[in-house]
Amino acid sequence: MLQNKEVALEAMRKYYGFSGFRPGQWEAISALLEGRDVVVLMPTGGGKSICFQLPALMMDGCCIIVSPLIALMNDQVAALRANGLPAGAVNSMRQEHENRATYEAAMRGELKLLYISPERLLMDIAWISNAIKVSFVAVDEAHCISQWGHDFRPVYTDLIRIRQTWPDIAVMALTATADRLTRDDISGALGLRDPFRYVGSFDRPNLSLRVIQGSTQKERIRTVVGLAYRYSMDCGIVYCLSRKATEKMTEKLREEGLRVGCYHAGLPAEERERVQREFVNGRLQVICATIAFGMGIDKSNVRWVVHNNIPGNIESYYQEIGRAGRDGLPAETILFYSYGDIITRRNFVEESGQKDINSSKLDFMQRYAEASVCRRRILLSYFSEDMDHDCGNCDNCRNPRPKLDGTVLAQKALSAIVRVASSESLNVIIEILRGMTPRHIIERKYNMLPTYGVGKDLSVQEWNSYLLQMIQLGLIEVAYEDRFHLRPTQAGWKVLKGERKVELARYAAPVYGDFSSRRASREPVEKPVYTRSPQEILVDGLKALRADIASEEKVADYMVFSDVTVKAIAEHMPLLPTDLVGIEGLSLVRIAKYYKQILTKVREAKGLKRTLPKGLSDTVSGILFRQGMDVDAIAAIRGMTPGTVAGHLTRLYADGEEIDLWRIVPESTYKTVSALIAEHADRVETESGGDIKALQPYLEQNFGIAPDIYSKVRSLMRVLQPQS
Ligand code: ADP
Ligand code: ZN
Repeated sequence: MLQNKEVALEAMRKYYGFSGFRPGQWEAISALLEGRDVVVLMPTGGGKSICFQLPALMMDGCCIIVSPLIALMNDQVAALRANGLPAGAVNSMRQEHENRATYEAAMRGELKLLYISPERLLMDIAWISNAIKVSFVAVDEAHCISQWGHDFRPVYTDLIRIRQTWPDIAVMALTATADRLTRDDISGALGLRDPFRYVGSFDRPNLSLRVIQGSTQKERIRTVVGLAYRYSMDCGIVYCLSRKATEKMTEKLREEGLRVGCYHAGLPAEERERVQREFVNGRLQVICATIAFGMGIDKSNVRWVVHNNIPGNIESYYQEIGRAGRDGLPAETILFYSYGDIITRRNFVEESGQKDINSSKLDFMQRYAEASVCRRRILLSYFSEDMDHDCGNCDNCRNPRPKLDGTVLAQKALSAIVRVASSESLNVIIEILRGMTPRHIIERKYNMLPTYGVGKDLSVQEWNSYLLQMIQLGLIEVAYEDRFHLRPTQAGWKVLKGERKVELARYAAPVYGDFSSRRASREPVEKPVYTRSPQEILVDGLKALRADIASEEKVADYMVFSDVTVKAIAEHMPLLPTDLVGIEGLSLVRIAKYYKQILTKVREAKGLKRTLPKGLSDTVSGILFRQGMDVDAIAAIRGMTPGTVAGHLTRLYADGEEIDLWRIVPESTYKTVSALIAEHADRVETESGGDIKALQPYLEQNFGIAPDIYSKVRSLMRVLQPQS
């Protein structure tokens, strides 16, 4: 079995140009290769695709990937194919004859990755199991299986048939958004057996978090324009609440001279597709969208996300800001917050089907917006992740509010919670702490507790703020599934036992239309800088090149190579093809196809003559050959004949480079064919005036020597028997 890490790393380097695994990737892959079921929880941009794509390439048979996001599915397949990897998709967006052809290719064993929508898989599962050799099944967006999730899809509950159909094949479930309850649902609903779980950190430290309260529409627009200027080569998204607001924002930004697209569910499907395509291809700088935008977007160079209105829950918010900075480079997020939005959202919640869940989710979102502690800690504690330090990359960390030592205060609250056996909600806990006397307090004998009234010195509002901060800091957990009872977390127990201190932000009554943030948004807009370094020139040049290649290959820009790769090239300023090997994100196929264009861009940026040195084509064939590709594969990728490639390699050999000639043609073939050539060489003298090429048809007719073999042997003869 190809289970070792070296083999996997080698494959990843070759197919993707990545030099190492991201956290969790290898753990998940190796568990799968051992035949175990696997659950992968990684934030958007964490690198989930590699977790199933790489084992799919390594294993026998074809991997089936179930995903509800058809547009994203089609993009991924296009990206894989552009990198020379055998993938196909079956879904309702494709023509039926295309779907059939894809199935047929899978049946012939020509595909390693088959993406299918859940509806289609369930329809065809019986015959797929008979006709296609399946290596394993990956269920993407697995949170859709849970009613608790924010994106429940009933069809997902039928995916249990995967396990029933393939009892012995491993199943991998992947998702980027899952709160604790959803996580627990996933394995059960897919029938996974003792799955290996990888729970990645949801921390995205490269995203800066900022909430601006009470700004006017004009100030908001200035802020967006400022962002668009600052990241003029990249793009951003503005999320608005309603279709109308989206259209209005689009218009305003267009008046400011930005290339803006508008996207919402009320537009015709073709229009939405066009806008999405132009955004992905980098022709639009800004998209103004309702939440309907982005589900199918996998674009790595979104540099900023602005929420013009507060989202309804943390999951959506986190997923939406998560569309920025997927390449790991710094990205900015801003949430504009006004009390009016909260009221609008409350009305939505009243009309929604799951009023209780949605209302508490909105509460949490509001607390996040009004928070005075590190915002990242709030987000991570929502995903049950304990972060023990402030992030330094959110507005609250940058402009901290006055703090107080809240350890004793927190202990009082925690002990009240423990005394009622974690069976009361926030309001009752405050009543106990303040020694209040509503009927339920007396009925449940809470007035007899030692903690009753220990917090009399603080007002209800103060306790509210401190308890909320404790929830945000991950000291208390809200049991949404159990009537919102409060209970201490592990970190909370530490505080209670005196093992951990708590710092809280001093309570201050909220001010809507906060002047300090107004002043902040009146800061002058940063103008673009015009003195540019060679690196910056190169970055622009590479992005332009990428756009050209993308439209030629009919894929999105970032699929050609990501911003990380652009940045790495700009850092190294490579002048030779060998310098390109090992640059993050450049697969061998990309190097082989585009080294000329890339190196020319570097020369331009450095102010060198554009013409490349001679002999680079030989070098490129040498690189691919030494990376393990055979002559025919190199020829196919480079669009040359095998004879030409053999010529490159033998020239390198003659120059003293290490080339294993017997990988070009086996030694025995060489001996036989070169002997035949020597023996019949005199024929060409008489028949075609000395052109030894003309010998080939004769040798083919009489001895079955194919043209490729002939020219490979000729290349070798030139270096091994220079006199002939
Ligand atoms: P997810 O599906 O988790 O949102 P992706 O699989 O789309 O994330 O990966 C996000 C980005 O990270 C992509 O641009 C991908 O090419 C890149 N990436 C994934 N794994 C690695 C790795 N091991 N090294 C470098 N880049 C990686
Ligand atoms: Zn912070």
